[in-house]
Amino acid sequence: MSEERSLNFIEEIVEEDIHEGKHGGRVLTRFPPEPNGYLHIGHAKSICLNFGVAQKYGGQTNLRFDDTNPVKEDVEYVDSIKEDVKWLGFEWANELYASDYFDLLYAFAVNLIRQGLAYVDDSTPEEIAEQKGTPTEPGKGNKYRNRSVEENLRLFEEMKNGQFPDGAKVLRAKIDLASPNMHMRDPIMYRIKHAHHHRTGDKWCIYPMYDFAHGESDAIEEITHSVCTLEFIPHRPLYDWFIEKLEIFPSKQYEFARLNLNYTVMSKRKLLQLVTENYVDGWDDPRMPTISGLRRRGYTPASIRDFCERIGVAKRENMIDVGLLEFCIREDLNKTAWRRMAVLDPVKLIITDYPEGKSETVFNENNPEVEGGEGGREIPFSRELWIEREDFMEEPPKKFFRLAVGNMVRLKSAYIVKCEGFKKDEAGNITEIYCTHIPESRSGNDTSGINVKGTIHWVSVPHAKTAEVRLYDRLFQVEDPSNEDGDFKEYINPNSLHILPNAYIEPDLATAVPGKGYQFIRKGYFTLDKNSTPDKLVFNRTVTLKDGWVKK
Ligand code: ATP
Ligand code: MG
Repeated sequence: MSEERSLNFIEEIVEEDIHEGKHGGRVLTRFPPEPNGYLHIGHAKSICLNFGVAQKYGGQTNLRFDDTNPVKEDVEYVDSIKEDVKWLGFEWANELYASDYFDLLYAFAVNLIRQGLAYVDDSTPEEIAEQKGTPTEPGKGNKYRNRSVEENLRLFEEMKNGQFPDGAKVLRAKIDLASPNMHMRDPIMYRIKHAHHHRTGDKWCIYPMYDFAHGESDAIEEITHSVCTLEFIPHRPLYDWFIEKLEIFPSKQYEFARLNLNYTVMSKRKLLQLVTENYVDGWDDPRMPTISGLRRRGYTPASIRDFCERIGVAKRENMIDVGLLEFCIREDLNKTAWRRMAVLDPVKLIITDYPEGKSETVFNENNPEVEGGEGGREIPFSRELWIEREDFMEEPPKKFFRLAVGNMVRLKSAYIVKCEGFKKDEAGNITEIYCTHIPESRSGNDTSGINVKGTIHWVSVPHAKTAEVRLYDRLFQVEDPSNEDGDFKEYINPNSLHILPNAYIEPDLATAVPGKGYQFIRKGYFTLDKNSTPDKLVFNRTVTLKDGWVKK
């Protein structure tokens, strides 16, 4: 579909710039995550946009870690971000760190002080907030605002040299305390934080604020199109102001609507709470909206790219239905997943007229959706089979085309059988189902002339492997947990994980690897969990075959 769609508004801007010969037609974008958490599906939208636009116009994209806040950042996050971007299928031109620019940024700040455009302020955060005024009332200056250039230079250097405790002073840009844009009312450029940084160690005890670091980092790298989300629109005049006053490369900022997805949360702060408070099994829990969670769940890079393409790039925020994400993975797996038989809730079926000890193999294509079927495999068949408990009914309603005494069904790729009886235990649970088979009805060579309405899947008892199967539902019970009263965690779905400890799978599935999708016939799409072992196979359900979600 990508060839067919019209340009998004970022592409329109880029085409116009190229047409006008801006930057010699060069396109350089960046993806700038803060390494304070794992990437989520919202980041995937930003990645697909930044890398996609650059690719389309022969440009490149930098991966820049926006690591200016030492307290929350970690190398674990850096590594996961790199893995996720690569996995999505993108290659960055340069791996860069805003912290590598600390010396340059310091020099930029000194430059602004020299121009009389920045000053050291000793006020407390409360005083600064108070003096800033309100959107309807102008702010007022304080005595520090009139400090001389010399004094500011000396104090800023002393800040850098660690002569003051955290919070004692800040460096502020001297812009306009009456500006209708609150971001222009002498914003803070640097704060004192005696904290260890994951890359610069203890070299620095002053750290630049986002607004000062971000645009300057863009300019240092000569980014042509700096794409970010809508909440940065009011920051744009400040972005431009710093660049103009410093006379550095004129990067430009453009804003698009972030992705909001229902039945989940996307803020890293909230996702971190789910992890640290053990609501989920880590950042890559298959219920998480993280890229690593989606990967472990069985989503493919192509399905996520397709999703990002379908939601488009808009200038107004909206809420996307997670059903669209599920649609995209079904579309992909329908074409790529191999069909296998697995019985999730087993009950035994015995074919009483099939010789004991005998077995044979029946043939099944790997993927009937694809021409040639992508090959196939031999599946062992014998007298005793596991079938799904729900495929038998003691007292069937009309039009129940599966097993009930007197009914006939086809065993997928094998024979037609007729149900003759069953056995129950004392508690009333069905323990065995008895059938006879029609030898002439073997699939591929059926001369029986019998037509049956139902086909059920099965796994041969002596050949079956066991596995744990994990079924997932939405992590939250409400569409927008962040927008409800109280704590978002009150809205967690208590039934988001359903474990089937004792499923039976056909022997071929013992060779499954994480990331390869399988369709368990009639049961959905599954992939091997990353913590699965040969002794204890674990499969995750990626998605059901059909949209089964009903609003409760
Ligand atoms: P959070 O608020 O969850 O911490 P963030 O925006 O602070 O997210 P960053 O690491 O700063 O996370 O984001 C890196 C890039 O990804 C930014 O350019 C940001 O605009 C973009 N991004 C983050 N969340 C979304 C989203 N939901 N949709 C689209 N882009 C997003
Ligand atoms: Mg951020």
